[in-house]
Amino acid sequence: MAALARANAALACGSSCAQLREALEDLTAHYHRLMRETHRLIRHGDRTEAELNTVNTKLQQLSAELEYKARHDTLTGSLNRGAVFDLARRYLTQAPLSLIMLDIDFFKRINDTYGHPVGDAVIRELVERLRAVLGDMGNIGRVGGEEFTILLPNMSLQSAAQIAERIRANVANQAFDCLPEHPVTASFGISWNTPGTPFEQAYSSADAALYQAKKQGRNQVVC
Ligand code: GH3
Ligand code: MG
Ligand code: MG
Repeated sequence: MAALARANAALACGSSCAQLREALEDLTAHYHRLMRETHRLIRHGDRTEAELNTVNTKLQQLSAELEYKARHDTLTGSLNRGAVFDLARRYLTQAPLSLIMLDIDFFKRINDTYGHPVGDAVIRELVERLRAVLGDMGNIGRVGGEEFTILLPNMSLQSAAQIAERIRANVANQAFDCLPEHPVTASFGISWNTPGTPFEQAYSSADAALYQAKKQGRNQVVC
């Protein structure tokens, strides 16, 4: 600003050629410094913008990861209890819903005899079996230690019962890779619910059917 003021003053008061030249040189030197500083600031701004973009991308990844973790079970990758209940509530506002509950039979014995890590492996392999039978049908949720809920919206009770029976047979008839020496079976309870049924009712009907399956000797499907 001082160099500019000096140049303006030299112009205004009819200075000599030498004075004008000196003012112009002074102004040019300052102008060059100003340009260098401007370029430095632009480079700095570009770097900061690139860093911000990287941080922003990482934040978006972390946020998606957090959202996934909040809705999924870490052992099996299936939906967790809260997420599957929310989904069931949503389905019930729109469509009929078949709800399967299943629970591994005498699972405590597996834990007690072979240890918890083997028990965990059985739970994981069970979910692989569920996925293999279901394909892209339905949603699987882990609602307890070795208890699962399968949601089959818009599916008749008869079809849901056939699917549950296929899962039951798959579990009971093929030895588990992680525990080939010990038979694994599961019991199933199914409720069929019209749209508008309160979720608690749909869930407790399936739970009552599961209780019945356990009482009648396990390794079976009750609707
Ligand atoms: P039932 O046929 O009546 O179902 O008998 P059960 O022995 O399977 O009885 P229950 O379903 O009550 O047993 C659940 C057991 O699951 C009790 C608990 O120690 C075990 N469990 C719960 N969560 C986990 C887990 O994440 N990993 C392992 N390994 N075991 C678990
Ligand atoms: Mg059990
Ligand atoms: Mg149980």
